[in-house]
Amino acid sequence: MAEADVLRTPLQYLKGVGPRRAADLARVNLLTVEDLLCRLPMRYEDRGHLTAIATLRPAQTTSVAGEILSCGLRSTRRRGFKIFEALVRDASGAVRAVWLNQPYLKDVLQVHQRVILFGDVEIRGSGGLQLTNPQYEILRREASTPSGGAADTADAEVSDDEETIHAGRIVPVYEKVGVVTPKVQRRLVYEALQRLPETLLDPLPDELRRRLGLPSRRAALRQAHFPDEGTPLDQLDRRRTAAQVRLIFEEFFLFQVGLLLRRRESDAERKPGHIVVDDRIREVARRVLPFRLTSGQKQALKEIVDDMQRPQPMNRLLQGDVGSGKTIVALLAALVAMENGLQVAFMAPTEILAEQHELNLRRLLEGSRFHVAALTGTGSASARRTVLAEVGSGGAHLVVGTHALVQEHVDFHALGLVIIDEQHRFGVLQRATLRAKGLHPDVLVMTATPIPRTLALTAYGDLDVSVIREAPPGRQPIRTTAKPESRRDAVYAFVDAQVAQGRQAYIVYPLVEESEKIDLKSATEMAEHLATEVFASRRVALLHGRMKSEAKDVTMRAFASGEQDVLVSTSVVEVGVDVPNASVMVVEHAERFGLTQLHQLRGRVGRGSHASFCVLLYQPPLSDQARARLRVLTDSTDGFVIAERDLELRGPGDFFGTRQSGMPTLRTGDLLRDHPIMEQARREAGAWLDRSQALEPLVDYVRTTWEERYGFVGVG
Ligand code: ADP
Ligand code: MG
Repeated sequence: MAEADVLRTPLQYLKGVGPRRAADLARVNLLTVEDLLCRLPMRYEDRGHLTAIATLRPAQTTSVAGEILSCGLRSTRRRGFKIFEALVRDASGAVRAVWLNQPYLKDVLQVHQRVILFGDVEIRGSGGLQLTNPQYEILRREASTPSGGAADTADAEVSDDEETIHAGRIVPVYEKVGVVTPKVQRRLVYEALQRLPETLLDPLPDELRRRLGLPSRRAALRQAHFPDEGTPLDQLDRRRTAAQVRLIFEEFFLFQVGLLLRRRESDAERKPGHIVVDDRIREVARRVLPFRLTSGQKQALKEIVDDMQRPQPMNRLLQGDVGSGKTIVALLAALVAMENGLQVAFMAPTEILAEQHELNLRRLLEGSRFHVAALTGTGSASARRTVLAEVGSGGAHLVVGTHALVQEHVDFHALGLVIIDEQHRFGVLQRATLRAKGLHPDVLVMTATPIPRTLALTAYGDLDVSVIREAPPGRQPIRTTAKPESRRDAVYAFVDAQVAQGRQAYIVYPLVEESEKIDLKSATEMAEHLATEVFASRRVALLHGRMKSEAKDVTMRAFASGEQDVLVSTSVVEVGVDVPNASVMVVEHAERFGLTQLHQLRGRVGRGSHASFCVLLYQPPLSDQARARLRVLTDSTDGFVIAERDLELRGPGDFFGTRQSGMPTLRTGDLLRDHPIMEQARREAGAWLDRSQALEPLVDYVRTTWEERYGFVGVG
């Protein structure tokens, strides 16, 4: 693929890039020509319409073209502050251009040069007009301009021919990255585009491109950076020119081909054992079940068990708001696997949750013949060896642990089902780990983070999804209020009254220790204060992330069994903790938590039959964003509504956070703005794969570039 090499060319081979600039570019992850060209402008400016100097008006932003009549550096009364001035003339008149504090211009702009200037027209102190800090471009190379050596450092821009880069056309405006200015990027992009060969490799299949009316990759790259005159600016800004759409579509299409390839590969696998569900198993399940399943739970269970009975491994995500009852559904799936002679690994994101699941599952499986084992960080080395032996011999049917469970050297006798709780992010990675070990069990990933519809196609493009929408019956809706610091005493009084009625309460802080910079109340210090003063007659416990896991465990158990009234904690209680008697959640500094996190915290209450409350204590004044977040929480308890709002408020980049989040690293597309293009790319990718051979060059291309391009675990 010789043509592809052009895009892979390191930037330092471009004209104007010496070692120093190459280092600046590398620091912001711009290494190759492709990196540069895939970074589309943040906006565009029409500098194509030249205004006759005599017709300039104050407050205009426009371009003029003319000759420099005189220019020079002048000092001002402010020490060290210099102004560079140039008088520029066209056929209609002359105007002064002024650059503040850019003394190096004296080596760049000279008398008799022809220039294009683009900038704001302002009224001078003397009453005349001036262009202030205009963008400039020199139109004709002067014989006197020193050549060589300066290219890497000077910001001088000289066009040799008709075509201009910075003015006299629609110009791209790039976001500044590190020390690399928009102007430097513009010139480098221009250089890079000049070097593209006529026959640039186009990864999109010809037929597809023609049918959808998309330009070639080469044309699209050119037009997306340097649009032809007359291209509507608003269309450019909405990223809807044919060129931009083509590049976005390409990115999404290749991503979806990768997802679908991965999906197809896993469908070609065969899992261990053969699962059947008969009346005997149904009877066992009924005996284990402590309540009637909601219809959402039944539906999800049916989808899961249908998957389990197929020969290819299940790849399913179970989505359900906090408290919707996912655990019991997972347990019933586990029963099916165990009744078929297979082992189950049940993984939670933290030790606390793993231990809570362990307790829960032991209790539920008490009357059954199945043996639950736990592999957590606590316990002696010899106890651990015993458990490992049981897992290896098949004596342990269900193993509970943290996510390290499949990563560590744990040998299962017959692993049939892996359940991953509350961490959809790791689902994909974990499957890859399992596959690398030659294991192809059914995988069920559970999450309480509702994924907006607009992202599901991307995050879970290769998973099947089951959703539990309703809460179990008898739940009281949680009343949420936002209160300023000044109402703290009233909030404490309310908590105390709830405790007096036999309920329990959580008080959550954003941090463990007092930070010098930010005035956050530390949980440790507050626990002390609350225990000895505010709730002196109540039992107050403290839980935070820096505690040893045994200590956390003891505290959590004590709270769960009702031996503590108030649990003061950092956000470690965020996921999964289940104490039905708790009826109040107080969140301190609620303005500092994200929407999803607040929703998760709130989900710790309202788990029993008692009326429940969530109080969001905030420190005024609130930013508009924070106010909007708190409003969303007080207005809605529907996780899906909250997730959609969160996405709107934060944008898809931040919605999940990091690279492991299950979101691809996108360069041209935006999941919110371009969702319809993603849907189309998905359909086309599926259709294309259906009629193509696995040996097509595109498949190869995706296999080799996918992981690097999207920051995802690779395809096959
Ligand atoms: P999550 O989906 O957040 O993991 P859990 O599985 O922890 O929720 O369930 C929350 C609570 O609801 C638990 O106490 C569980 O026993 C209870 N529960 C789950 N399903 C039902 C049901 N169908 N009827 C009554 N209570 C239920
Ligand atoms: Mg749960």
